[in-house]
Amino acid sequence: MNQCPVLVGGEWRAVGGNGTSPVFNPSRGEVIAEVPLCGAEVVNEAVEAAAAAFPSWRETPAIERARLFFRYRQLVEENFDRICQSVSREHGKTLAEARGSVYRGIENIEFACGAPTLLMGDTLENLARGVDCETMHQPLGVCVGITPFNFPAMVPMWMFPLALACGNTFVLKPSEKVPLTVVMLIELLVKAGLPKGVLNVVHGGRECVDALLTHPKVKAISFVGSSPVAKYIFQTGTHHGKRVQANGGAKNYIVVMPDADVAKTVEALSTAAFGCAGERCMAGSTALTVGKAADRLLPSLVEAARAIRVGPTDSAVQPDMGPVITAQHRDRVLDLVASGEKEGAKVIADGRGVRVSDAPNGFYVGATIVDQVQDQMTLAREEVFGPVLNVMRMEDLDQAIGAANKSSYGNGAAIFTNSGKAAREFKNRVKAGMVGINVGVPATMAMFPFTGWGESFYGDLHIQGKEGVQFYTQQKVVTARWFGDGVGDVWQR
Ligand code: NAD
Repeated sequence: MNQCPVLVGGEWRAVGGNGTSPVFNPSRGEVIAEVPLCGAEVVNEAVEAAAAAFPSWRETPAIERARLFFRYRQLVEENFDRICQSVSREHGKTLAEARGSVYRGIENIEFACGAPTLLMGDTLENLARGVDCETMHQPLGVCVGITPFNFPAMVPMWMFPLALACGNTFVLKPSEKVPLTVVMLIELLVKAGLPKGVLNVVHGGRECVDALLTHPKVKAISFVGSSPVAKYIFQTGTHHGKRVQANGGAKNYIVVMPDADVAKTVEALSTAAFGCAGERCMAGSTALTVGKAADRLLPSLVEAARAIRVGPTDSAVQPDMGPVITAQHRDRVLDLVASGEKEGAKVIADGRGVRVSDAPNGFYVGATIVDQVQDQMTLAREEVFGPVLNVMRMEDLDQAIGAANKSSYGNGAAIFTNSGKAAREFKNRVKAGMVGINVGVPATMAMFPFTGWGESFYGDLHIQGKEGVQFYTQQKVVTARWFGDGVGDVWQR
């Protein structure tokens, strides 16, 4: 069985002694690798290796650090198909979805290549007479990345390129459900010229994470995952004196006004709800249909959902939608739909009985639409993280904004309309950090921060963009004046 290695101080090696966890190909329901569950000892070695590599890496000129990422970008492009196949195999995304997500990751490498400019400070001459002032952006030291299962390449790439380009060293702990793509990505980084110890990879679950959160030499933690864990990471990390940015789960609302373009809205809603089998923190999981919008929209939306072909993503003929990540997760999604039905909602497109004859052991749920969902239902409140679209019927825009704003999350929200006034009202009043206007998945690209609100984010500085640079650096303000002539000074003669 393929054993997933750790990378510590520039050496890839197998570790044992603390148990392993199986890695599945969810399309087939088969175990394809084992991942070690690292404990405090391996974590300590990785953090010490990163700490030892820090002094020389922070002294490396920013342009040289950026060059590592120019070379890395090239290698990721050259190995693009292999990386996408790995994402698809261990996560279950279709190849098209995997390609899209790896491109989002590449854009983060490209952003990190701008480090020499991004790290420039400000200066003010003559702050007072003869006194000058400047700001400097210095790295923090050892930073940590802890990532979720749903984007095996993209989310790690949100973190380590920028952290390293800013002069930090890093310990990366990918999701134990999808550790294989990260190994491939970091092998390429080593090939691009990564100095020993500058980035280390460990694997595992809670024990491994706890060792990272409490290690005295760790300065900052970037986390992406579910909200309860994000909250725990934020509280534990900050309690131990670390800077933390922790992205959590979500429930994203899409308002459809009666004047929305039906064909375009149906297309966008199906992609938002069923793309990546709904396993996206920016999935449009609830449609808030205003007035007659439901009658105009639902017949074509149901037709579109029923037409989605579900199947294995590791085969030559690609399906429209792949499996969800595990059998347990599939059962949870099915239970949530059943709970909605029990509480009075109507399943109008039912993907629960889907059979995939060429991959009978895969973890499949077909595209499902549940109409007449009410906001007190569990299905309305909890993140489903599967290919399920809830429909809640609203009388007017006011009621729709009110329904969206009741959510404890606040990642994304979108409106489909031809009215500029309705769109303006929505964007100003909705409580979510990323807003789409006739855009179903307003996930931000590398140059903008990923601005979750509410329980979708714990921390102050978000991942990506200039906020990402601020997160991975600390500012120093230097105020200077100079007295008299120095010994041997000839400048006034
Ligand atoms: P998860 O919270 O179960 O796991 C995330 C990471 O935390 C993994 O590396 C895991 O090993 C670790 N972990 C899990 N339980 C832990 C515990 N009790 N203590 C310490 N560490 C623990 O999340 P997941 O199921 O892998 O990913 C799906 C979730 O991530 C969804 O809620 C989704 O919305 C969210 N997500 C959010 C964003 C965002 O940017 N807001 C992006 C992608 C995914």
